[in-house]
Amino acid sequence: MDHKKRQSLQLGVTGLAGLAMTSEVQAAPIKTPFTVASTYIPIVNSKEVFPVRRVYCIGRNYAAHAREMGSDPSREPPFFFQKPTDAIQYIAPKTIVDHPYPSLTKNYHYEVELVVALKSGGKDIPIEKALNHVYGYALGLDMTRRDLQRFMGDQKKPWEIGKSFDRSAPIGPIHTVQQLGGHFTKENISLSVNGQIKQNATLSHMIWSVAEQISKLSEANELFPGDLIYSGTPENVGPVVKGDLIVCQLDRLPDLSIRII
Ligand code: MN
Repeated sequence: MDHKKRQSLQLGVTGLAGLAMTSEVQAAPIKTPFTVASTYIPIVNSKEVFPVRRVYCIGRNYAAHAREMGSDPSREPPFFFQKPTDAIQYIAPKTIVDHPYPSLTKNYHYEVELVVALKSGGKDIPIEKALNHVYGYALGLDMTRRDLQRFMGDQKKPWEIGKSFDRSAPIGPIHTVQQLGGHFTKENISLSVNGQIKQNATLSHMIWSVAEQISKLSEANELFPGDLIYSGTPENVGPVVKGDLIVCQLDRLPDLSIRII
């Protein structure tokens, strides 16, 4: 086997194992019939950008939200789902970014969430070491086609179509833990629509802390640098229509604003 062939075979294996695929593939002499875009999120006050590997989301992580979704907010094990990496829609601070009302839904909901960005990963990460893997944080929206999520759930079918669609993950820039002066614990998180407060809670109301989320998720999947975790939304989710302005706020982070078009 010649050198080039062996190199690309090794890369293929590396790719299957999910190890640092993007950078190695870019550096390698692999030819592709077309290019596929990678997803990056700006990092505040940095020339570097954050490369996104996977987008995980936790479900029903605030008791009052679990109740409004019709479930019992006990400490049963948390559950996670994923959005495709290219569902990320970057929202620069001090701008109002157009967000198209998606297809197929008549009940399009906002969910404001703290987003955790990982710089390292592993399997079975202990809770007490979990925060060492956090690179930084951002403010995000887990946009949801609620009617489709409910319809599929009622039929005991996967509700992916309600959660994992184009631009379903608006997000602001990433702030490093150092820039923030520490991790998030009990800050205020809120969301308004057309100037009216809809969601308003503190992060201390989370059922599972960020450290617990990382630890639990690492039991199901090995985590890697570039993984994002949307950490769940507080109560009072609700619908928006075309023309609505959503503004999200989280202490220590810039506001995130989108206009539904
Ligand atoms: Mn959510």
